Amino acid sequence: MELFQLSRARDVRDAIQAGAAAQTAQQGAEVRFLAGGTTLLDLMKLNVERPGRVVDISRLPLNSVEASPDGGVKIGATVRNADLAQHPLIRERYAVLSQALLAGASAQLRNMATTGGNLLQRTRCVYFRDTAMPCNKREPGSGCAAIGGFNRTQAILGVSDACIASNPSDMNVALMALEATVHIFGVRGERQVPIDDFYLLPGTTPQRETVLEPGDLVTHVTLPPPAPGSRSVYLKLRDRASYEFALASAAVIVTVANGRISHARVALGGVGTKPWRSREAEAALVSAAPDEASFARAAAAALAGAKPQSQNGFKVELAQRCLVHALKEAATA
Ligand code: SF4
Repeated sequence: MELFQLSRARDVRDAIQAGAAAQTAQQGAEVRFLAGGTTLLDLMKLNVERPGRVVDISRLPLNSVEASPDGGVKIGATVRNADLAQHPLIRERYAVLSQALLAGASAQLRNMATTGGNLLQRTRCVYFRDTAMPCNKREPGSGCAAIGGFNRTQAILGVSDACIASNPSDMNVALMALEATVHIFGVRGERQVPIDDFYLLPGTTPQRETVLEPGDLVTHVTLPPPAPGSRSVYLKLRDRASYEFALASAAVIVTVANGRISHARVALGGVGTKPWRSREAEAALVSAAPDEASFARAAAAALAGAKPQSQNGFKVELAQRCLVHALKEAATA
């Protein structure tokens, strides 16, 4: 781990100013905000993350879950994953989010990890975490050791010639299906970004994973009201039953009315370079009967653009089966 300056922010504005000041004083030095630290500190110890300045935001008043006047919910960036999963509003109205959170990490990690940190969770690609190996995401232009290397756990959707790393989060897959909005505070003021636009595809710049600019702070996430009569499910498939990242997962939200699917939201995890919303699957589901044939058509549509590597072709069928099972559970219960 390299030396860095640590400060504690008094409020949101103070955090933004501390970040901006550090960048100016240290000629563009990287600034990182620290809350739970479950990703950042690991990567700093590995020298993958080497910020010149760390701003502790863990005591900012961003740790509440509140019902919104429009019937939705506002989730603060420092709300712990465990608290969010167990919050009555989330359990009762956004079951897919609660299930996704409880499927992630371990109980100890969920007690520390925060909403904002989980949004920015970095890939588990083994080469990204090994500074002896080429990795375009960690060191732009150095190459991608996973292409032609160990790629069993990598993405099959949204990949590029520069990077095939999968996004590891469960929470973000549920937030994608729920059409969350990410609220950001930066030196130029506040802005809101739909979560599907928040994440960037790797393209030729895999080091840029989100639309965040240097010094930007995620303050909270909002969810719209649940679709009337909808049911939601998160299903995660992995190599072992606990404390493991998804090989494939599915977050689905479905409303069935008069024997037909009237509303569908579908997102996949473990297979995309970002949490993967499948509008193709949604289009295949709406107006269809809630039966296995419809679910299979939706799953085929969701994976139609898959580009597997030498070791992860199995993810195509695994993700399809995962989606079919999740839809069956949500639509026919
Ligand atoms: Fe790096 Fe992405 Fe290649 Fe992994 S897949 S080695 S993160 S460039």
